[in-house]
Amino acid sequence: MPSPPARPPLTGETLDSLTARLQAQGEPAFRARQILEWVYKRRVTSWDGMTNLSKPLRAWLADTFDLLPATLVLNRHSEDVTDKLLLELRDRSLIETVIIRAPQDGVGLDHSRKTICISTQVGCAMGCVFCASGLAGLKRNLSAGEIVAQLLLVCHSEDARTPRARLELASFDNLVVMGMGEPLANYDALILALTILNAEWGLGFGARRITISTSGLVPKILQLAEEPLAFRLAISLHGATDAVREQIMPINRAYPLAKLLPAVRAFSATHGRMVTLEFILIADVNDSLEQAKLLRAIALDLHAHVNLIPYNTVEGLPWQRPSITRQERFADVLRAARISVTLRREKGHDINAACGQLRLQTETARAAATPA
Ligand code: SAH
Ligand code: SF4
Repeated sequence: MPSPPARPPLTGETLDSLTARLQAQGEPAFRARQILEWVYKRRVTSWDGMTNLSKPLRAWLADTFDLLPATLVLNRHSEDVTDKLLLELRDRSLIETVIIRAPQDGVGLDHSRKTICISTQVGCAMGCVFCASGLAGLKRNLSAGEIVAQLLLVCHSEDARTPRARLELASFDNLVVMGMGEPLANYDALILALTILNAEWGLGFGARRITISTSGLVPKILQLAEEPLAFRLAISLHGATDAVREQIMPINRAYPLAKLLPAVRAFSATHGRMVTLEFILIADVNDSLEQAKLLRAIALDLHAHVNLIPYNTVEGLPWQRPSITRQERFADVLRAARISVTLRREKGHDINAACGQLRLQTETARAAATPA
């Protein structure tokens, strides 16, 4: 017997699409707002929690929609203020969502500023040679509902820690789309999800506090510049010449620097905001002073912020991070030109490789536990 079609996630619906479904059911239009308020503001975790809806309506909703298409299977809280949430989707795929806590002013001890890192695909097709997420290729895109569900699950876990967080809009400060997957390769679902997060009937989360990181899909960068919501952009550069970038990022063959850099310039011209250039430092690959000087020229030309990230080793891959002295020397070349540069060292703040590795370990353990 064919299995029944999966119910679409409620978290993928907009106010308009939900209103249309309810009206077709003979319900008044205002029901959609009531339901979305239960989901995003009051953050109930069951249909029965929606106490101002009739029982038959709750039953219809339960038959029609999946309330939350992901389940928390593991929360790895590390002493360095990172929470890694491993989530299981309905098809048993695993994704990671990470909460990074930092002081409000960047230096204190309170750790109350929260940045959430979300995934947009299961795996990744881009094949960057240093990255854990792409090791097994792309399994599938996430739906908009699955992307939104990651943030709701974060809110639920934060609500449990501080119940007061509920009814305030989102219980985090910044959102970075830097988890597993290439966000711009799943463009429509990404934009729909971020629109739901931003909407006043959703989490009401400001577009300016959302950063999308891309390996450099040029046509999609140009499309993103035209979106009505002004998201921030981070580019995974990782090489200041085509020769170096091509060695580690296959996408550079389709979109070399001569195509990528003008697209980034066009994006910042439209937005009037600084773009971030991410540069992982990998020993003997891209950490020479010559690369630093070329990166300096690119950053000056684009008026970009540079985020230097010491490489996080991945089991099974040969790449290493350079020594601290070498990292500092690289950073000094940029600092000397008064470029805005960060070089992160504390583990908890190093979000960039946080996603992807926990999933890899769990997939490996699962494969080992399942008889062939
Ligand atoms: N696919 C997008 C977003 C996800 S990756 C992109 O590539 O931008 C987020 C960031 O983590 C990217 O800059 C990526 O290059 C970096 N990254 C991947 N593996 C890493 C590792 N092992 N150590 C440090 N950074 C890593
Ligand atoms: Fe994909 Fe980004 Fe990893 Fe490259 S770095 S394989 S684009 S997730």
